[in-house]
Amino acid sequence: MELLIVIAAGLALGSFATAIIYRVPRNIPWAFGASKKGEPTADRSVCPSCKSILSPLDLFPVFSWLFLRGKCRQCEVPIPARYPLTELGVVLACLGAYAVFGFNIQLVFIMAAVPFLAALLVIDLDHMILPNQLVFITGAIGLARLLFVFFQDHFTSASVEFVAMHIAAAFFYAALSWFLGWFLTKMLKKDSLGFGDVKFFAVAGLWLGFSNIASFLILSGLLGIVFSVIWQKVKKEAVFPFGPALITSLYVVLLLQGSLLL
Ligand SMILES: [Zn+2]
Repeated sequence: MELLIVIAAGLALGSFATAIIYRVPRNIPWAFGASKKGEPTADRSVCPSCKSILSPLDLFPVFSWLFLRGKCRQCEVPIPARYPLTELGVVLACLGAYAVFGFNIQLVFIMAAVPFLAALLVIDLDHMILPNQLVFITGAIGLARLLFVFFQDHFTSASVEFVAMHIAAAFFYAALSWFLGWFLTKMLKKDSLGFGDVKFFAVAGLWLGFSNIASFLILSGLLGIVFSVIWQKVKKEAVFPFGPALITSLYVVLLLQGSLLL
């Protein structure tokens, strides 16, 4: 039963992630109905090609895509496979968190963050940006998780210290990444770390705290190398987005420390 709830919620969150991925880089509202005249509103999804409004049948995560054989029902324009792949990725990320944390409040916070992490990952691959609003929301969920620890432990000095150290870690991660970016830019004589990456480091610090900084840096460095090699093979571009390595590392390290926390 728990497993079914996690899978169902994961599919819904995956569908939400694909909506953010499409809308945020195009400045289409995704959270609230308000929008300028002539622009799609946040509450209905339309086919990017023929603009026909999609019915719930078209929007069922993964299965709709398989059922429609990857084409729009109206205009038959192909729907990129990365939409169902993103949805599947979100479900797997939720299941991974469930396997480590079990069915509890920790899982709720992590699953709340997963669609935003997935959206940041795909948007960075597509556009080489980590949109501020998504980085900010991921940070806000991390902060909410810290505040929950605070309340749960009835404001003991240990919980005060726990929260304060994670907030300090956010600043430390950001400062460290800014310095690394500056250093690498000097060394390699090219822009190495965007400011979006620096902000994401702060979010990672908020989630992971000081104790995980070494594993986070090592893993994101290794993944960064692997991803950049793949990127150069596939895209043949020298500049590659560092966000996906950071996002994957945040998720993996969070799960590794898993049961140690709380
Ligand atoms: Zn269409």
